This record gives sequence, C-alpha cells and structure tokens, in this order.
Amino acid sequence: MVKDMDHINWYPGHMKKTKDLLRDSLKLIDIVVELLDSRIPRSSKNPDIDTIINNKPKLVLMNKSDLGNEEGNRIWKKHLENENTKVMFVNAHSPKDGARITKEIQSILKDKIEERKAKGIKNVTVRAMIVGIPNVGKSTLINSLSGRKGAKTGNRPGVTKGKQWIKLKGNIELLDTPGILWPKFEDQEVAMNLGFTGAIKDEVLDIETLALRLIERLISIDSAVLEDRYGIEISEGQSPLGVMDTIALARGAVARNKEIDYTRVANMVLDEFRKGVLGRITLELPERE
Ligand code: GDP
Repeated sequence: MVKDMDHINWYPGHMKKTKDLLRDSLKLIDIVVELLDSRIPRSSKNPDIDTIINNKPKLVLMNKSDLGNEEGNRIWKKHLENENTKVMFVNAHSPKDGARITKEIQSILKDKIEERKAKGIKNVTVRAMIVGIPNVGKSTLINSLSGRKGAKTGNRPGVTKGKQWIKLKGNIELLDTPGILWPKFEDQEVAMNLGFTGAIKDEVLDIETLALRLIERLISIDSAVLEDRYGIEISEGQSPLGVMDTIALARGAVARNKEIDYTRVANMVLDEFRKGVLGRITLELPERE
C-alpha cells in the first residue's frame, strides 16, 4: 500500500512550519500522546519533540508492541519508567488497549480535572493530541479510539487548520489530526532501522542492500530467527550475503538462468520481518542496558 505520508519530504522550512503548527495545537490541549514503534523506540522518536512540548503532560505509547520482543518490551518499560516517563505498551488495533489508554490519560490529568471541578466547571473535558513519525500507527489509533473505520486522518505534516475534536469515553476530546513528526533520518543507523520497519520508503535505499543489512542485524541478534523460519543452518562467520544466498536457495528465489533472484529474496525477507512472520523482534535496546 502506498501511503500519502510516505511522500513527505522534510526540508528545513517544512520542519519549521510543522513545529509552529504543533506549538499552536499545544495551546489547545492538556496532554500529548507520543507514539513510538516498540521495535525501534529510539529511531522512531522525533529528536525535538520534548523541547517542543516543553512541560506539557505526556503519555508515551509504545505501539506495535505485538511486533516487539517481550523481553525487549520489558527492558524498555523499565528504562522509560526509570526516567519518569508515563508509558504503555499497546497495539493500536486493539479496542481493549484503547480503553486502557483513555483510563491512563484520565489518571495522568487527575489533578487538573479535580482543579477544574473545584472551580465549579461541570462536565470537565480534557483534550489530547497524538504525535509521531510517519507509519508509527497514528491514524490506526485515532480510528480505533474513535470507533471509526478506515478513514485516513490527514495527509500533511503538522496539523491542519479548522480543528475537529473527537469525543472519546471518559470526557476526553482528541484532536482528529495527528501531529506528523520527522525522524532523525540523518543518522545512518536510524535510517536503516526506519527502512527495516517500513517507516521510510524502500526507495531510500535499494531493497537488496536493505535486506542484506537486515539479515546482518538478525544474525547478530539471534541467527535462530532465520534458521527456524527458512529451515537453514547458519555457520559461524558466514557472511550475510552467504546467508541471503542460502535463504534464496531454500525458498527457490532463483531465476530461469539459475541465478539468485535478489530482488525477490530481499522483498520476501523484509516483508516477513515487517509482518512479524520472523517473530517478535526488537531491533534496539536502551543505550545503558
Ligand atoms: P500513521 O502513518 O502513523 O498514521 O500510521 P498508520 O496508522 O497508517 O499505520 C501504519 C501501518 O502500521 C498500518 O499498516 C497499520 O495497520 C500498522 N499498525 C498500526 N498500529 C499497529 C500495531 O499496534 N501493531 C501492528 N502489528 N501493526 C500496526
């Protein structure tokens, strides 16, 4: 599926405009809901977000937690909680998680709600907005929280004018347009992680190189992931290219002239990784652990 958001080209003027729009929206809301990808929590974080939102309350949602490794999720949870970050591991498709999220928002804003009630305000509502890099699951979450299906929620970075609020359970109103943030793409390792997970378009890197790098990473994390899935054996010191060839042969990704079809094997490995067919894999852990 080609998505509108994948076509965003971030350039300095564009980033400034996004920041300005975001600052405007921040004036209207009580809490920021920041989505990260559980497989790449560091790479999927916008470098400037905490400065932009300043002291506004924030809830971090580690999304796609169904694709992150359980142990990895645990390590990240501990790490973030040690930093006093309010964090939840969720799957944006899950209505049950939606209910947990609204509860958590209310709990974080409890004092503020009480304060307003004490001032005699009836039906106190709190306002939230979702922010995150392209493809992290913002639209899915908005749709899931609001109970609507399929509608794409805006295709431009920043936040469009004419704000619409979606009423959620628990007297929460959600801005219907998410804040689309840029990743730290100038960092090679980050760019690679974003490529592996499909957060940036495949064209950014050629697909064969991307898959080769992914194979290399998977070997270093746990070769059994590839061995089990493709029924192969990886010998110690085998090169990533050698492993890619072995996978291609195991899967018959061979052209008529008997040469390996690298495009085919590359697409297959990337696709299976992204869908979680290779298992639940966390690609990066907190620096200190
Ligand atoms: P956006 O660009 O941030 O709005 O991202 P989308 O909501 O369009 O989601 C990008 C892709 O990730 C879609 O294919 C979603 O179905 C998928 N997705 C979103 N959340 C989750 C999740 O928690 N788990 C899994 N497995 N897939 C998800």
